[in-house]
Parts: sequence; structure tokens; C-alpha cells
Amino acid sequence: MKYISTRGQVSPTGFIDAILMGLADDGGLLVPEQIPQLSSDTLKQWQRLSYQELALEIFSLYIGDEIPRADLKKLVDDSYATFRHEDVTPVRRVNNGLHVMELFHGPTFAFKDVALQFLGNLYSYVSKKNNSIIHILGATSGDTGASAIEGVRGKQGIRICILHPHQKVSKVQELQMTTVNDSNVLNLAVEGTFDDCQRIIKELFADVEFKHQYHLRAINSINIARILAQTVYYFYAYFQLANQGHTEKVNFSVPTGNFGDIFAGFLAQKMGLPINKLILATNENNILARFVNEGVYQPGEFKGTYSPSMDIQVASNFERYLFYLYGEDSGIIATLMEQFKTEGSITIPGDVLQRVQSTFSAYSVENETCLDTISEYYEKYDYLLDPHTACGVAAADKLMADGEITVALSTAHPAKFNEAIELRKIEQTYPKQIQALFNKPQFQRVVGGSNEEIKDQLVKFF
Ligand SMILES: *Cc1c(COP(=O)(O)O)cnc(C)c1O
Repeated sequence: MKYISTRGQVSPTGFIDAILMGLADDGGLLVPEQIPQLSSDTLKQWQRLSYQELALEIFSLYIGDEIPRADLKKLVDDSYATFRHEDVTPVRRVNNGLHVMELFHGPTFAFKDVALQFLGNLYSYVSKKNNSIIHILGATSGDTGASAIEGVRGKQGIRICILHPHQKVSKVQELQMTTVNDSNVLNLAVEGTFDDCQRIIKELFADVEFKHQYHLRAINSINIARILAQTVYYFYAYFQLANQGHTEKVNFSVPTGNFGDIFAGFLAQKMGLPINKLILATNENNILARFVNEGVYQPGEFKGTYSPSMDIQVASNFERYLFYLYGEDSGIIATLMEQFKTEGSITIPGDVLQRVQSTFSAYSVENETCLDTISEYYEKYDYLLDPHTACGVAAADKLMADGEITVALSTAHPAKFNEAIELRKIEQTYPKQIQALFNKPQFQRVVGGSNEEIKDQLVKFF
């Protein structure tokens, strides 16, 4: 399988080069040259596969012979052996129509582990195979950093440096990152905000000489390997329901920030998975909900919410969807993205909006509704939702019709966001792995926010 850019200016490249490239060299995003189409026979054959077996089948379609099947199998098995649940991403029935798919059974209790455990192993494999050095540099508002560090800690040929805003991530997130003491991990706590961290990273990656000299690689959610890894659980959820006798199409409700997770669902649908509606849930940072409902893509004012991993104004994966919305026409996408840069918004015509709405429905969840949903599900169903998952569940409650079945994706364990849970006077017991973090020493370096200071630290570390 070859990969091409949504903006059309990159020559088709293989899977491994696509992973290493991250953002396409023309500023676009990489997508597969063709999306594999699955027959209903194939879907039937896959219905009883384990999570790992299913992942192997799906990855094989997108990787081809670039990675021998036995090697790929080992990568998959190693990546999901770290999950605490034998089903990896189990689906639980919560009430008549609503099922919750728990994506938080990985090492850091957030769904990002599903992709980053795999990407970490993949980077390590590539490093060994090509005898190349991989230095990962990333910024995080919490979940990505912890997850990426867990994905590569202790691995040969890889070093990772993560910037986070000093004392501006949740306590559990900070501990998850900074209690790791492997020598290939460097945590820099930046005196500043998440935006400062992101700006520094962007500028260091733009410094091409520095980037090449130090072999810098990215781990952000535009990496196509992350999308592919997330596609697997849409299939797996569908099959779990099918095995219980549900034969109808299902909705998926997805707490959305950068549009990575829900794009994976869109891809699954394009491959032939019988999905009814993709329900796009946002918090009060609702650029994407406004797009689906009104046809205008325009950043609003930043709002702090209880679901900080969805506090996003510009969704980095959105361009991938636009590419398919406009019939894979890279010329149109290049024009639209240029227009977005100069005018600050994109408006689509009515007939195109109709196509959007035949795939997605969307709802923007207010802060109080998020907390109300947590209380309601705790009292009525004895099920504790984290604030991100609560946004997805609230949107599903609002938008699903009678008799439909919806799988709401649970993207984090509630213990990661106790600050919100406490507001509703709900006491939770932390899982022992999280409890144990509070007694461990922390390893991090507090630094100012200048590029020079960060560069200095990196040069010493790499
Ligand atoms: C990253 C994240 C999201 C948003 O996922 P996107 O792929 O960015 O849309 C939702 N919930 C949690 C807990 C996350 O960490």
C-alpha cells in the first residue's frame, strides 16, 4: 500500500516512510492511496477473531509486504499484551440501547494507549531494521505524553522528550509521565501553557537542519499509524455485538478533539463496516459540532472544560475527512486549506453539508450537562463515566433514535480526572496502579519557555 498527501504534492510513499514522515512534506496529511474494501464474507470470517487477530488482518491490508506477517504479528501481540483486559477493548451494555466500549485498559488508562503502544513498538522495529536512530519530540496537555512515554520507555534505539506545561496537567497525568525513570525518557516541565509547548515543538520541527541532525520524529495524532490502530476497535465492537445477536447497523458516539478517533470510525465505515451514524460529541469547544450542524468550520474562543483532552480549536485530522468529502480531489483541499489560512474559516455549500449530515450527527455538550451525565449514570446505572466519555454519552442520549443501538467510546478511566468527579461528591477508589504513583519519586526538569533553553536540553539528552 502506498500513501499520498491530501494536498497532492508528495510522491506516493510506503507505509514505513509515511509513519516516519508524520505530517506530509507539502503540509497536508497522508492517506492510503486506496481504501481496502471488505466483502460481507470477509466480515463474517472476522467476526470471531480475537482483538489481536483482527488487528493483524486490518494492519496487513494497509502495510502489505513491507513488514513480514510474522514480524507484524509479534508487533501486535506485544502491543496488546500490556492491556489489563483479555478483550483489550471490551464492550459493556449500560442500558437498552447504549453500550460503552472501554478503551482505557492500557498502561495509562486512556484510549491513546491503543495506538501508542503499537506506534512505540513500530518505531522500535523500524529503528532496529534500518539501523536508524529515532528521537521523539512531543508536547502534551496530559494524555498523549503519558501514553507515548509508556509506548517507548526502555526501548533500544529510541529516545523521547515530552514537554508539558508545568503544573497545568492533572495530578495523575503528571505522575504518570514523571515517575518513569528509564534513561531514554526526558520530561521537560515548561513554565508556560500548553500553547507555549506546542509552539516550541512546531518551531523546532520547522528548523529543518536541527530536525535532521537530531533525527526528530513526531507522535501526534496525525500519524497515520495511530488512525489505523484505532480503526480496529470499531470492527471489534461491531463483532462483539453481532456475536450477541445484534444484526442491525450501529451508531458510534465519539468524544472528539482532534478528529483522529472519529476519523478512524469513518475509515472503518468506508471499508464496509455497517455503521449507521457517527455521533460527534464535543465539549464547549465546539468547532466540529458547528461544522456538522451549520456547514461552517471556524475556530471560536478557547474555553476551559472538564474534558481538557478535547479542548481544541483547530482539529488536526479534519483535513483527512475533507479530502474524502470532496471526492479525493487534492486540488480542492489545497485551495480550501489555503483559504482557511488566509480567511480563518471554511464554508461548505448546502449539498455538501447534506453529505456530511448523512454520515455524522453532532452535539456540543455544556460543562454542566457533562457533570449531570456523570451523576445520572452513576446513580441510575452504577457506572462511573469520566468527563470525556460523559460528553459522548450525553450526545448519544440526545441524538439516537428509539430502537437504535449506539456504542459510546469511553476514552479515559474516571480516575484520571478525579478533579471533575469530585465536584459531584462522588468518591472513587483509584486502581492500584494509579494509587501506587503517589509514592514514587518524580523525574522532570523545570525549564523556561525559550526555544534556546529547550534546544540546549535536547542536545545534551540526544
Ligand atoms: C485525545 C483524547 C480525546 C480526543 O480524541 P481525538 O482523536 O483528538 O478526537 C478524547 N478523550 C480523551 C480522554 C483523550 O485523551
